[in-house]
Amino acid sequence: MPTRLVALLGDPVAHSVSPDLHAAAFAAAGFDAAYLACRVDADSLRAAVDGLWALSALGANVTIPHKTAVLALAAEASGEARDVGAANTLVRTPAGWRAENTDVAGFLAPLDAGALAGRPAVVLGAGGAARAVVYALVRHVGPSRVTVVARTPERAEALARDARAWGSVLVDAAPPERAQVAEAALVVNATPVGTGDPDATPWPNAEDFGPHQTVYDLVYRPARTRLLRDAHARGARAIGGLPMLVAQAAASFRLWTGLDMDTAAAERAARTALYL
Ligand code: NAP
Repeated sequence: MPTRLVALLGDPVAHSVSPDLHAAAFAAAGFDAAYLACRVDADSLRAAVDGLWALSALGANVTIPHKTAVLALAAEASGEARDVGAANTLVRTPAGWRAENTDVAGFLAPLDAGALAGRPAVVLGAGGAARAVVYALVRHVGPSRVTVVARTPERAEALARDARAWGSVLVDAAPPERAQVAEAALVVNATPVGTGDPDATPWPNAEDFGPHQTVYDLVYRPARTRLLRDAHARGARAIGGLPMLVAQAAASFRLWTGLDMDTAAAERAARTALYL
C-alpha cells in the first residue's frame, strides 16, 4: 500500500500546526500517511476537492475560508456538519467525500458538561467556530440559556435563529453592553481576538470573572491569552484552545484511519510547532 495522502485546504495555511500534529500521530500509530497543508483560494476549492479524490487521498481537513463552501462539494454530510452549516473534515467513502464537523467533539472534550448543565453560557463571536460551540452546547451540554455576543449583531441574531432548530435551549443575541457575562457559568471566546497578541482580549472587564465560572478561549496562540490570565487571576477555571485543537484532530484522525490518536505525541508536536 503506497503512502496515503491527507491534505489541509485553507487560505492561509502557512501558520497551521496541523501538519506537525498529524505527522507525529501517524508516526506514533505506524500509519503510512503524509499530511500536507495546501493553500487553496475560493475559486479553486472544487478543483482541489476533486483533485484529492483523483489522487486517492484518504481525507482532508478544511479551514478558513472554506468550511461552509465545502459542504456543497461533498457527496454526503454528517448531521452535525449539516446542522452547523460547516465542515472541517472530509472522509473518503465508496460514495464520495463525506463532510464531517469534528470541532463540535473537539470543543466538548475538555469541558465538564455535567457541571454546566442548567446554567447560563455566553459565547463571544458568531462565526464558524461559534456555530459549532453553540451547537455543542445546545445538543450536548444543556445550559439554561446561551447568549451570543458579536460585534456584527445580524450575525449573532442569525446564529440565535438557526440554533432554535438544534434543540430546546434558549439561544439569544445581545450587544456587549447587555451581555450578562458576570452571571454566566461558561464564557467562550470564539473570536480571533488575542491571537498573537498577549495584551488583546475580547472581554476587557476582568471584574466580571469569578470562581463560579469556566472561561474557555478557543485561541491557542499564545497558550495563556490575556483572557485566560484575567479569568485565572479571579479564580475561574481557564481552558485554552490547545485541548480543542488536539481533540478535533483526534476525531478526524479516527475517521480517516479507524485508530485512536496518540494524543500525547500529537500535543507534544503541536506545542513544539507553537513554541510553547
Ligand atoms: P470566523 O468565522 O472568521 O469568525 C470570527 C468571529 O469573530 C466573527 O463573529 C467576527 O465578527 C468576530 N471577530 C473577528 N475579529 C474581531 C474583533 N477584532 N473584535 C470582535 N469580534 C471579532 O472565524 P472562526 O472560524 O469562527 O474562528 C474563530 C477563532 O476560533 C479563531 O481564532 C480560530 O483560530 C479559533 N478556532 C480554534 C479552534 C481550536 O481547535 N482551538 C477551532 C476552530 C476555531 P465579524 O462577523 O463582525 O467579522
